[in-house]
Amino acid sequence: MQIYMPTNVYFGSNCVVNHRKELAALGNKALLVTGRHSSRVNGSLEDVKNALQKEEKGCVVFDGIEENPSIETVMQARDLGIREGVDFVVGIGGGSPMDAAKAIALMIANPGESEALLYEKRELPSLPVAEVPTTAGTGSEVTPYAILTIHARRTKQSISHKIYPRLALIDSRYLKTASLNTLIDTAVDALAHLIESYLNTNANAYNRMYSEKGLSLFSQMREELMQCRQMDREPGLTLSDTVFDKLMQMAAVAGMAITHTGTSLPHGLSYPVTYEMGVPHGRAVGIFLPGFLNCYEAKEDVQAVLDGMGFASVESFTEYLDELLGKVEISEDLWKQDVEMIMGNQAKLKNYPFPMDEDTLYQFRR
Ligand code: NAP
Ligand code: ZN
Repeated sequence: MQIYMPTNVYFGSNCVVNHRKELAALGNKALLVTGRHSSRVNGSLEDVKNALQKEEKGCVVFDGIEENPSIETVMQARDLGIREGVDFVVGIGGGSPMDAAKAIALMIANPGESEALLYEKRELPSLPVAEVPTTAGTGSEVTPYAILTIHARRTKQSISHKIYPRLALIDSRYLKTASLNTLIDTAVDALAHLIESYLNTNANAYNRMYSEKGLSLFSQMREELMQCRQMDREPGLTLSDTVFDKLMQMAAVAGMAITHTGTSLPHGLSYPVTYEMGVPHGRAVGIFLPGFLNCYEAKEDVQAVLDGMGFASVESFTEYLDELLGKVEISEDLWKQDVEMIMGNQAKLKNYPFPMDEDTLYQFRR
């Protein structure tokens, strides 16, 4: 058994500016990698710029990261980073800019290489990476994974290299500008990480501690999360600072959980749904959680997960999720292709510790 969690994680209000010395220690000039709008609205980009300025470090901004970032966008940002002579990368935003930041840091550190490098299995250097999350879902601020869209294959896949962020600066104030749908979708993503890590070929007593902590946080705020559904109809209703804090903590420990185990079938099944239908990542993963829990053979482990979340049965969890997420209709053709893709790829099945057949997997669609 091994626990390896090399990211230095700071949590708290104003932690970007408070921990600017650790940020500045990563290099002399940073590439700030972010999405198109939100980091300007929630103050995270300004905080990082201020922190670097106070420490007399340079920076340049790449703000073209789209949702589910593509290899093409990573290569554009790499070109800017090389031109500008940056020596570290800061991802600011949701999982998309944070994942992109890791892939960009790898490509800048290997300037003579083509994009094929992203999916080659060899040891390579990377620039140091810091992450500032503004959604509470992916946990990318602590995971070594970077999932990119591969248009040529009409899907998404994690790059072959593990890039652990050196520093994660987590301030839940940035969540306050997120839409209710984003808050819900990303919370379900974190929940899926907790569940898929606990029920995993690579799970052991040590790494399950992360899932147990995260499931407990989820149980403490699942009703507030459901209230998000009513907030549109009742202006003035908002989540409390405590809930924003718990959401960020849950996402971070869920990231620590999958850092040790990887994800499982719900994540594998979700990627074509996101690519072909544009369903946000967490919502797409959530479609498959009830089916996953229903078919998982170690029923005592499933019960432990349900107990952790505070549900008596898979049925009551499913009812909760249906109300929280609504229904996503997946066409028969897409669903068949999706199931066949998973069944034909051993790498997608290896984290599921029991035999799986096509008929059983077919039942996963809600
Ligand atoms: P995202 O794609 O990063 O962002 C979704 C949307 O939310 C964007 O429009 C973004 O706007 C907006 N947004 C972000 N923060 C906001 C805030 N504080 N206020 C208002 N709007 C905000 O969503 P995500 O769910 O966090 O990340 C999904 C990606 O992460 C997927 O590609 C998924 O595959 C990946 N992922 C990675 C891991 C991992 O371990 N590395 C795990 C799970 C998922 P802007 O574009 O304007 O910023
Ligand atoms: Zn995920």
